[in-house]
Amino acid sequence: MNPHDLYAVYGASGYGREVMPLARQQLAQAGVAAERLVFVDDAAGGPVQVNGQRVLTYAQFLAQPAAARHAVLAIANSCVREKLAARCAHDGVRAWSVAAANVVRMDEVRLGEGAILSPFVTLTSNLRIGRHFHANIYSYVAHDCVVGDFVTFAPRVCCNGNVVIEDHAYIGTGAVLRQGQPGQPLVIGRGAVVGMGAVVTKSVPPGATVVGNPARVMER
Ligand code: UDP
Repeated sequence: MNPHDLYAVYGASGYGREVMPLARQQLAQAGVAAERLVFVDDAAGGPVQVNGQRVLTYAQFLAQPAAARHAVLAIANSCVREKLAARCAHDGVRAWSVAAANVVRMDEVRLGEGAILSPFVTLTSNLRIGRHFHANIYSYVAHDCVVGDFVTFAPRVCCNGNVVIEDHAYIGTGAVLRQGQPGQPLVIGRGAVVGMGAVVTKSVPPGATVVGNPARVMER
C-alpha cells in the first residue's frame, strides 16, 4: 500500500459504515495515514463526514490528488456492485479488498479482487471465490467450494464443503447450505436468493428464491 494513494469505501450507508473501520485498520497496519481514506457515495451532498471520515462524490474522489486510487465496493446489492466495478475500472480506480484482522484463511484459498471479509469470517481450505465477494460477520466457506462473482453472504452464512455458488447469488442471514459431494456439488444458481434461516438440502435453480427448512422454492 502506497501512502500517496487514495483509498475509498464506496457506499456510506449501513454496510459501508461497517466496512470503514476494517479499512481504517488495514491501512493503519500498512502505515497509511487516515486522511488517505474516504467514503465515496453518489448521494453525497448531505453530511461532509460520516463517523469521522470524509464523504466525497465519485467526481470529487477522482479529482483528489493521488498517485493511484483504490475503492472497495461496500454495497450489498450485487448489480450495483457490478455497475460500479465497471465504472471504477473505466476510470483507473483499482479494486481494493478489505478483510478484518481476525479472518481465518486456510490453505489454497483463491480470492478474487474487491472482496470484503467481515469480522469472524472463515475461509477453509482449497476453495475459489470470484470478484467482489461479500462475506458478512460470522460467515464461513468450507473446503472445495467454488463461488462466482458478485456473490453476497449476509451474516452467519454456513456454506459447507463442495458447494458451487454462481454469480450474483444472495445468501441470507443464518442460512445453511448442505455439503455437496466431490463431483456432485450442491449448486446455488446464478442470481438465486436464499432466504434468512433457510436450510438448503438440494440445488437451487438460477433466479429462484428459496425459504424454509428444508428450503423450498417460493412461488410468486
Ligand atoms: N450508492 C451509490 N451509488 C450507486 C448506488 C448506491 O453511491 O450507484 C450508495 C447509496 O447512496 C447508499 C449506499 O450506496 O448510500 C447503499 O446503501 P443501502 O442502504 O441501499 O445498502 P447497504 O449499505 O446495506 O449495502
